Amino acid sequence: MRKVLVLLTILAVCGTTLAAPVGKRRSRRTSAPAAPRIAPAGMAAMQTIDSERIRAHVRFLSHDLLEGRGTGQRGGDIAAEYIATQFALYGLKPAGENGTYMQKVPMVGVMTLPETTFTLEPATGGPINLKQLDDYVASNQTQTAEADLNADIVYVGYGIEAPEYNWNDYKDADVRGKVLLMLVNEPPSEDEKFFKGKVLTYYGRWTYKFEEAARKGAAGVILIHKTEMASYGWDVVRNSWSSEEDYLKADGAPKLTVASWVQLDVAKKLATASGMSLDKMMLDARSRDFKPVPLQGKLQAHIVSKVRPFESNNVIGMVAGSDTKLKDQAVLYTAHYDHLGIVPGQPGDNIYNGALDNATGCGILLELSRTFSAAAKKPGRSILFAAVTGEEKGLLGSEHLGKHPPIPAGKITLDLNYDDVPPLGSPEEVEVSGSERTTFFPVVQATAAEFKLAIRPDARPEAGHFYRSDPFSLARVGVPAFSINEGMKYKGHDSTWGMKQAEEYTAKHYHQPSDEYHPEMDFVGDAVMARFGFALGWVAASQSQEVSWTKGDEFLPAREKSQSGQ
Ligand SMILES: [Zn+2]
Repeated sequence: MRKVLVLLTILAVCGTTLAAPVGKRRSRRTSAPAAPRIAPAGMAAMQTIDSERIRAHVRFLSHDLLEGRGTGQRGGDIAAEYIATQFALYGLKPAGENGTYMQKVPMVGVMTLPETTFTLEPATGGPINLKQLDDYVASNQTQTAEADLNADIVYVGYGIEAPEYNWNDYKDADVRGKVLLMLVNEPPSEDEKFFKGKVLTYYGRWTYKFEEAARKGAAGVILIHKTEMASYGWDVVRNSWSSEEDYLKADGAPKLTVASWVQLDVAKKLATASGMSLDKMMLDARSRDFKPVPLQGKLQAHIVSKVRPFESNNVIGMVAGSDTKLKDQAVLYTAHYDHLGIVPGQPGDNIYNGALDNATGCGILLELSRTFSAAAKKPGRSILFAAVTGEEKGLLGSEHLGKHPPIPAGKITLDLNYDDVPPLGSPEEVEVSGSERTTFFPVVQATAAEFKLAIRPDARPEAGHFYRSDPFSLARVGVPAFSINEGMKYKGHDSTWGMKQAEEYTAKHYHQPSDEYHPEMDFVGDAVMARFGFALGWVAASQSQEVSWTKGDEFLPAREKSQSGQ
């Protein structure tokens, strides 16, 4: 009963204030301007968003029968069929392939086998044979069972080319066929105009460094691991590289034969044997004038891999827009449906149910698709709903979606994502990190104010969480994208309580078999997040202007490129 009352109160709040006409400022409001008006049909639809329907989806999707929704496994496929079935029942148009809701995502698992050898041959002092996992980790991204590499090593500093910061570590060096030794992260800075100061940009991520080197025709990369620079220890690298690495099936884009990391001490040894000092090399890399330095040494590697092709599906549905001119554009909602599956042979409970991660996001996505589809009148632009696969394997489903969007990326005005939205009751804060980088931020702020939600800033911008979540896959093809989640402050509790819940979840249940559904979970907050996202999506789909990234943002060039071809 209490829950119902809370729900009704929230509905009443949203219902009255959001319907206020554009530009009409209420004196009791503080600094934020009024949120744009939502048409009565939108308001009515939004008010039918029901926390108990979200609960029902979460309960089913995280049931043991779904076997942890592993990518490319039976449980994952059942989840995809369930979502497609709901889309059909709600009357969504299929927006996958061949008139279905399914978009095939071909993937390849690559496991580096112990037969692999990895030897550094510096100019002096004889070869350095490295021990797999203790000294180095390596993967062959060309997805072949065996590969040999015998190539010169060139030190390229941070391995970054970033025109917007007037930074190019490569200068005009020809690195084709070479092995590039480089540092993780980006040049240190407090200046917000230079690699965003403390905030990690994509240039600092190791994934970028592999991609950029491959684009430049390099055959291999050796990343130097330094705990303070990577922000995690060698054990994290070791663990994540000691099992299968998953990739999208090779699509003809250039790939590295050797993508590797070495321990700091190994890099020191290599530098010393090359007559150099690693400390000095690291300092030199901080300068804009840095130029690539050939080491006069080689990497000799024989990479043996087990290559396992598999596939899974993104599930995509659409509610068509009402404006003849705008309806070929769309607002996109995303949530990943995959989780970690079953770990065979693991004693005790070995089903990774993924109730919070991310049955909650799927429940919200499904409830949004139902309510948009049921709206008596639709917004001008269309609404796309994509439940994506392979997130836990490295954002693979969303990466594929970004590369093969159902409509051109330049026509997707905004992506709103949901991932792991805790069922803890009524939130008083919202996290929308990344939204401040888009031209849509004023609407986000005004809408948050209308919902009486304080915007909670990213607590650790230097950790680069944005680049490890699905919206990044859309952002890199230009689409303005961010996730919506609760903050730490909940009604009836202080934020210390919220933080304690979050810490406990991370320590005990995150990516554990115990991330399970319990009947006492309170989905009121998930419904608030759904309504908040509904309001944002409705406005983005109705307003005359398209959303973009703000001036100077790292994703703006991709946006401009994607829109120039229209
Ligand atoms: Zn996860």
